[in-house]
Amino acid sequence: MKANPHYLDLRGSYLFSTIGKKVAAYQKENPDKTIIRLGIGDVTQPLTPTIIEALHMATDEMAHAETFRGYAPDLGYDFLRNAIAENDYMKRGCDIAPDEIFVSDGAKSDSGNIQEIFAEDSVIAVADPVYPVYVDTNIMSGRCGSFDESKEQWSKVIYMPCTAENGFSPQVPSEDASGKTPDLIYLCSPNNPTGSALTREQLQKFVDYANAHHSVIIYDAAYEAYISEPDIPHSIYECKGARTCAIELHSFSKNAGFTGVRLGYTVVPYDLVDENGVQMRTLWARRHGTKFNGAPYIQQRAGEAVYSPEGQKEVQGLVSYYMENAKMILEGLRDAGFTVSGGINAPYIWLKTPDGMTSWEFFDYLLDKANVVGTPGSGFGPSGEGYFRLTAFGSHANTKAAIERIKGL
Ligand SMILES: *Cc1c(COP(=O)(O)O)cnc(C)c1O
Repeated sequence: MKANPHYLDLRGSYLFSTIGKKVAAYQKENPDKTIIRLGIGDVTQPLTPTIIEALHMATDEMAHAETFRGYAPDLGYDFLRNAIAENDYMKRGCDIAPDEIFVSDGAKSDSGNIQEIFAEDSVIAVADPVYPVYVDTNIMSGRCGSFDESKEQWSKVIYMPCTAENGFSPQVPSEDASGKTPDLIYLCSPNNPTGSALTREQLQKFVDYANAHHSVIIYDAAYEAYISEPDIPHSIYECKGARTCAIELHSFSKNAGFTGVRLGYTVVPYDLVDENGVQMRTLWARRHGTKFNGAPYIQQRAGEAVYSPEGQKEVQGLVSYYMENAKMILEGLRDAGFTVSGGINAPYIWLKTPDGMTSWEFFDYLLDKANVVGTPGSGFGPSGEGYFRLTAFGSHANTKAAIERIKGL
């Protein structure tokens, strides 16, 4: 036998394992130090009462033959798909039917698996820096070419740099720069890690580009609940023409705190067809039905509860809690003289490393001098070099303590 060669490049799994190792080594050498972790994008607040109640009720149903549930329907239970269509789309004036919604165990698996329904030689474009799963899963599928060490880039990937000059917003790929047109364009808005978000106008440009070039936009809306500004769209289907060019990913992880519960969904509209007229929805349905056995009934009932009036209030409470941290980080770092962005429509703060330090130099410096863990920007793409991500997902007390330590440097 022979291992899949595309799986042997470990560059992708490098970031968080390296952080973990460095922090463990530091703690071992300095057992008396209290380390504050504002590195990984995981929530810390407990599940809210409405969700707990829904989980309990659904669990109790499993105890009786009349209400017991086995395998869930492939694409999800109607009660959840209807609630999603109604609340996330119809209420926003977006034309998405329950049939176009595929319930899953989360946006990480969907964002990683969605590339399977596209041709092997598809060219991908990614915002840079961005959530590493998009590139890594295409590396594992052999689509990215070879890695250029000097540029820190994959030869076949089109990068859309997000820099201070463009306000950390990706621009539609310019044709003459690379001569390539992307088949798949990955966008994450609000973005992890920069915390920036595309305006309606900016997103419309991507939609128009994709329709003109027969590209597909894979739109990751995992942080949609954190949007606070009115000109930021909550869904790509708010843009005209998105039904013919966009797939949208959602997660219950960052809004309702389901990182350990596991629930998400993906929208593939009927109108999304390939150049031969193949409906991409049917391919995703096949993939879903063949390789996935449905999100659990109990979790789907919890997801339904997220859309109840009480559930929505509780989500608002969680989002506000984390966004208070974001404000504390933004203002604290600004006072301390850092150049910072993000933190308005997303629970991520993006800061420029001081004194020309590289992202990893600043990581070591912050760990050593303040005992605070963040994430080096270079781990999210070449344009992240010289930047650093802090998350607002800590507790108020930890966040406050971390900022005071940083201010004291
Ligand atoms: C956290 C995160 C996800 C993962 O969501 P799950 O539903 O927990 O798998 C997806 N996309 C982005 C950009 C994220 O930051």
